[in-house]
Amino acid sequence: MSPLSPPLTRRRFLRTAAVAAGAAATPVTVAQPANLAAPPAIPISNGIQVGAVSFVDEGVEPVLDIFQQASVDTIYLTTFTYGRGLAGRQIPGQPFPDHGKQESDEKTFHGGNYATPHPQYYQATVLKETRAPEHGDLDIVAAVLPAARKRGIKLFCSIEDVFRNDVPGVKEVTEMDWQGRRSNTLCLFHPDVRAFWTGLATDLCQSYEIDGILFFNERNGPLLNALGASHAQNIASSRVTCFCPHHQQAARAAGISFERARDGYRKLDQFVQAALRDQRPSDGYFVEFWRVLMEYPEVMAWDRLFDQGKHQVLAEVNAAVKGARKNLQVGFHIEHVNSFNPIFRATRRYDDLATKADFLKVVAYNNCGGERYASFIRNVGSTIFRDVPKDELLQFNNHLLNYSREAGLGELATAGLSPDYVARETKRALDGVQGKCRILPGIDIDIPTGRNSRKAKPDDTFAATQAALAAGAQGVILSRKYSEMRLANLAAAGQAVRNFTKSQKR
Ligand SMILES: [Zn+2]
Repeated sequence: MSPLSPPLTRRRFLRTAAVAAGAAATPVTVAQPANLAAPPAIPISNGIQVGAVSFVDEGVEPVLDIFQQASVDTIYLTTFTYGRGLAGRQIPGQPFPDHGKQESDEKTFHGGNYATPHPQYYQATVLKETRAPEHGDLDIVAAVLPAARKRGIKLFCSIEDVFRNDVPGVKEVTEMDWQGRRSNTLCLFHPDVRAFWTGLATDLCQSYEIDGILFFNERNGPLLNALGASHAQNIASSRVTCFCPHHQQAARAAGISFERARDGYRKLDQFVQAALRDQRPSDGYFVEFWRVLMEYPEVMAWDRLFDQGKHQVLAEVNAAVKGARKNLQVGFHIEHVNSFNPIFRATRRYDDLATKADFLKVVAYNNCGGERYASFIRNVGSTIFRDVPKDELLQFNNHLLNYSREAGLGELATAGLSPDYVARETKRALDGVQGKCRILPGIDIDIPTGRNSRKAKPDDTFAATQAALAAGAQGVILSRKYSEMRLANLAAAGQAVRNFTKSQKR
């Protein structure tokens, strides 16, 4: 590949950095490049998520220049996904940031493996043909790694469990819902799917001198999906997964009845659908929901079975990476729902996750967090908590989650969540892992939101980054992808890292 001429000069970047610093809540000075070379007293990792298209559009060296000016020392390079959250340019319908091609890739975006899949690692899986086609023969890891190394920047490959249904082999390994219908998602108990993830992790770690893997899997079990317990999903009680023969086999081994679980999910579906039609059970919504759980404990058991499958894959990926080279690091992305859904929180233990990873990227996105948290409240407020006025439900939930003084439901999307939210989620994670792994909160830099919802500003990213570091995080991961970040916001995050590092030296 031939790096294109830089559309951004350093002077322009420093100008945006100056604007960012001026807008920040705390008085800051714009660091000159000479200051950036000084090693920090306490090493704080400042990572950024970036996809292949940014290096193609803007050139490898110019992008690395911008990263270094924002004090980035680690790249999380999107290497495998079919999703637009981590790969591709700005998502359709959202304004382009002030760099990169100002043209939608909606028609050309495909996704897949942006490195070179080496066939020997995929012999035990039907998922053999995953090469991303949109950048021709470009191998993004081979293209970026030497340039990053030269500058002392670490490089991790990000891999994400998001597929598309026209990938060869996918139809053979998809999940089955409780009514026996195939879905578009991949079964995490299927041996071919497990072999794919370990094969991919091994391939990347054996074929390239990378620093490790960051694994993304935001998928939820059937109980949470039936209730719409995340921020973005539909309330999909009629289609929840996975009840395929591999899951049935795992259930038998665990002594869980498939028939009872299926009957329980039928009852749960009836409850949810009646709630959505506003048909109140005579004992009220919450009591009826709790009764389904009491009468069919298999509903809960099957949800835990889903998590078991997911965590088994995490453990296998971890083992594969360590098997490739002992000093490689493994990180897991901990999805946003973990911070605002108490039911989800109960399904995860930080001390357990710490045994499977060297670091956790705990999502603490505060700008889009307002909009997402409001959606979550509306979702759970339309089924199990339908009897509770939604603003009161929000206040109640704030208490359960240990949030303080966030905006009310009507203003939450425009206000976003506060830097204090970032600090509290960081602290909770640090307390949970007890020093057994590092906590690198994910910082929201221009994650797309609805038209009237909070948009990131330099003082937001500065304050969020500062809050995470002051709470004790060992670093941050600027998210979701460089191709949606405005440079002033990125610069402000870098300034917060430098300020914090400087304050530690004193
Ligand atoms: Zn299955």
